[in-house]
Amino acid sequence: DGITLEKVRDYVWEIPQEGDMRVPARVLASEPLLEEIKDDKTLEQIKNTTHLPGITNHAICMPDGHQGYGFPVGGVGALDAENGCISPGAVGYDINCGVRMMRTNLTYDELQGREAELVDSLFANVPSGLGGGGIVEAGIDAVDEILARGVDWALENGHAVEEDLLHCEDEGMREGADPDKVSQKAKDRGKNQIGSLGSGNHFLEVQRVTDVFDGDVGEAYGLEEDQIVVLIHCGSRGLGHQTCNDYLRKIEQQHQGLLNQLPDKELAAAPAGSQLAEDYYGAMNAAINFAWVNRQLIMHRTRQVFERVFDRSWQEMEMELLYDVAHNIAKKESHDVGGEQRELYVHRKGATRAFPAGHPEVPKAYRDVGQPVIIPGSMGAGSYVLRGGENSMDLTFGSTAHGAGRLMSRTQAKDEFWGGDVQDQLEEQEQIYVKAQSGATVAEEAPGVYKDVDEVVRVSDELGIGDKVARTFPVCNIKG
Ligand code: 5GP
Ligand code: MN
Ligand code: MN
Repeated sequence: DGITLEKVRDYVWEIPQEGDMRVPARVLASEPLLEEIKDDKTLEQIKNTTHLPGITNHAICMPDGHQGYGFPVGGVGALDAENGCISPGAVGYDINCGVRMMRTNLTYDELQGREAELVDSLFANVPSGLGGGGIVEAGIDAVDEILARGVDWALENGHAVEEDLLHCEDEGMREGADPDKVSQKAKDRGKNQIGSLGSGNHFLEVQRVTDVFDGDVGEAYGLEEDQIVVLIHCGSRGLGHQTCNDYLRKIEQQHQGLLNQLPDKELAAAPAGSQLAEDYYGAMNAAINFAWVNRQLIMHRTRQVFERVFDRSWQEMEMELLYDVAHNIAKKESHDVGGEQRELYVHRKGATRAFPAGHPEVPKAYRDVGQPVIIPGSMGAGSYVLRGGENSMDLTFGSTAHGAGRLMSRTQAKDEFWGGDVQDQLEEQEQIYVKAQSGATVAEEAPGVYKDVDEVVRVSDELGIGDKVARTFPVCNIKG
């Protein structure tokens, strides 16, 4: 395949700079994960991203990396915010796809025997699938408010409490959101999807904590063995997708000069300081807010479902947001580059922010231990809570992995697996109750389509970019 890869040290591989590459590329992986990464276009894609103007230090591929639109999923690219560029493909179509975890004080014992009832009730009350309909029906005015204010809108409208905002990246409201830069078409797609999971890879999963590896950090996060938690994974729905699409087309047309310098058209980027860079940033920030409201409404609805099923108030069940973290975003951040503070558009696509202890952007409640990082595995495997590691600022612009990462395409998955069989097996062998709008979704998301999340997390922990805190295991799961 002609791509040179040199081992720098354990878990760090480098594609050396050559030709028009502006910096080297780095892959963070163990040997078995690297073999999987070599199976698709990931290496070629991460190498291509080093051609983007203003790329700083290295383009970085996380241990869960796999091929994506232009820029790999599991990719981090920090591009100079004054002399570089911003690239929608390096954020991803599902702007602010991300995960949030809610704690409860229920134990697995209290839930056992009621899984079917709980999964049915969640499925009936949390909108999912391709069909329209969200938790709230809103007009375009409300959409504009959501885009501008994020979770603050949800608080005002009775879908959140104050603490929910404090335990969300950017406190649930990204600054610099500009609803006017989101197209009417995007708003129309979003307006009846406010509070909906969507289809495919998105899910709501009730889990039990199986391991706490770090007692002190576990305590700070309020996690204990056997505790029930809820993990929610979804993004900005049609609104984000349309926004990505709108700006890709505009950038391709207006910045052809830059496009022609890039090895892949899918990396289309707007030069920093250009009108389109500003417009995309404002629109992306707005879509980020939309996604946070989406996850917030789903979480709040989940509280109500638990209230009905367990006949207790959600406050009694201490259903508090542990943390919400994005894994498809770009953000203007200030980073130390060779002793100098520089403003960078940090693109994290299928990568999670992982700020270490002491960082001012880590919520007060967690500042002494580091930012919570949530890494889903699959509906048949563990998921993890990590904390931002000491080395993340030096190695990855404060980032780590976002999941196990796909091993095979959706088409391949449907050849390999049959949804009904997967569901039966999970229920009979693992007592995991899965309910989905379509059997095809279950096949496409079968545990076997994903890499080994334990190995991904081990690499993150060994590198000190995200340290293991706790592991969870699915109890029941709803999907689109
Ligand atoms: P992505 O955002 O790239 O689609 O997915 C994030 C990660 O979620 C995947 O890499 C995979 O490891 C994980 N994942 C996908 N489906 C499920 C599920 O049903 N349950 C859990 N716990 N994780 C999942
Ligand atoms: Mn998504
Ligand atoms: Mn995602």
